[in-house]
Amino acid sequence: MAGRKFFVGGNWKMNGTIESGKKLVETIKSAKLDSNTEVVIAPPAIHLLLVKDALSGVEHVQVSGQNAYHKASGAFTGEVSVTQLQDAGIPWVILGHSERRTVFKETDDQTAEKTKAALDAGLSVIVCVGETLDEREKNESVNVVVRQLNAVADQVKDWTKVVVAYEPVWAIGTGKVATAEQAQEVHAAIRKWASDKLGQSAAESLRIIYGGSVAAKNCKELATQNDIDGFLVGGASLKPEFTEIVNARL
Ligand code: PEP
Repeated sequence: MAGRKFFVGGNWKMNGTIESGKKLVETIKSAKLDSNTEVVIAPPAIHLLLVKDALSGVEHVQVSGQNAYHKASGAFTGEVSVTQLQDAGIPWVILGHSERRTVFKETDDQTAEKTKAALDAGLSVIVCVGETLDEREKNESVNVVVRQLNAVADQVKDWTKVVVAYEPVWAIGTGKVATAEQAQEVHAAIRKWASDKLGQSAAESLRIIYGGSVAAKNCKELATQNDIDGFLVGGASLKPEFTEIVNARL
């Protein structure tokens, strides 16, 4: 709210084929999307250019990498660099997704290093933070996201090209969505952190989006919350209902 453009990201993760990707793009192209929503689609790396080309000319819809390596080039087999994303005309990258943190053991510091490198390369970044179920049950949710954000803030001073995705790990891919109150509480704490750390004006313009089992049936209520500026959508971004989530504010 408060003048922040609503933002909906679709994280396809390691799903789909060339054919299914093309179909999803067709669904997005043929839908009537809210022009007040910024949409960013993150297909698997191998489909990025295909999806980018298929979406060319579609207003308000851009593409994103799901991850990137901070070095520009070199002997890093299997990695794609922030510089290569930039060179390929991919304007966004998701960093610090909980699957990167848990499955691939990426640390707060690595996420911060990647965020700095991506911004330096001219990309915009969706940086993901969020607590595990165990941490929530210990009342640690805010401490965890603040720790994760502080690591980034130690390396990044200008947050104008950063979107923060609050994604409680217990809600990702589980069908267990945070209630609007639970999500709003952490989003407000993130905005308070931003105000203390980055200043009031940066905090007011920072978009903080929610991720974790967002679907057509729960997006509207979440979208009414003061500090929820959009969504990062996993499973439902692979379905036609993604367009309803883009239109959550209509
Ligand atoms: C995600 O991958 O960022 C995510 C939120 O997944 P899902 O919507 O499936 O919970």
